Amino acid sequence: MKPYLFSHLDEIAGRLSGRQVSVFLDFDGTLAPIVNRPEDAVLPTSMKEILQQLAGVAPLAIVSGRGSGNAREKVGIPGLVYAGNHGLEIEGEGLSYTIPEAVAAQDKIACVMAELRGVVDDLGMPGAVFEDKGLTASIHYRLLEGDVEAFLKALRNHLRPYAENGALRIVEGKKVVEIRPGVAWDKGKAVEWLLAQERFKGSIPVYAGDDLTDCDAFRAIDGTGISVAVGLHLDDADYYLRTQEEVEEFLRWLTSAIEAKRS
Ligand SMILES: [Mg+2]
Repeated sequence: MKPYLFSHLDEIAGRLSGRQVSVFLDFDGTLAPIVNRPEDAVLPTSMKEILQQLAGVAPLAIVSGRGSGNAREKVGIPGLVYAGNHGLEIEGEGLSYTIPEAVAAQDKIACVMAELRGVVDDLGMPGAVFEDKGLTASIHYRLLEGDVEAFLKALRNHLRPYAENGALRIVEGKKVVEIRPGVAWDKGKAVEWLLAQERFKGSIPVYAGDDLTDCDAFRAIDGTGISVAVGLHLDDADYYLRTQEEVEEFLRWLTSAIEAKRS
């Protein structure tokens, strides 16, 4: 059984004590509730307010599967760094970095997405949502009408050769299949990269996320930072929260803890 975060606040406060804290947050399912269509996701007003406060006392990065521009639009707070497309593109606060291999693979991903539309058309199952995010692409099947296993099997069969020859990386998450360039880069690598930048250097990182792709970041800060899984289904994190709503309460506590240290 993983430790429930709110039963270990003293321990966390002890680990943060005397250190500059930096905060890394996933967006969907962590800051904003999961919705059927990614474009409908909304950052709750109360969450936005606490993020603004937090950004005033700690370097803060949003680490999302969304494109960085899209994540920026959804969050809408100045003074943040956005690591989009699972960290393949990083921008904000004087930082600007895109993984070159990802740019090179963009046409390939567009081609494969077109092929997959054909595969899904042939299946005759409506409801799949194709999302083009620039450097990566996603197929969401939360709204799929039909046999999900048959759907996934068809996608996996089509994608297997691309994954096997290293051209693409296929990553499955919550009701989503992600198509990424075949480069060894993920949210964990992005967090490591950010921690080497002046803005974040020497800080103790706190990372919260709700999906399998966040586990790379949990592992990246294992032993040095504090990782928080949103929901009970993820391993590798130091602590867990039961629901997305609890993230807000945690960030409120974290902001107060950092503010108290400063005064
Ligand atoms: Mg998420």
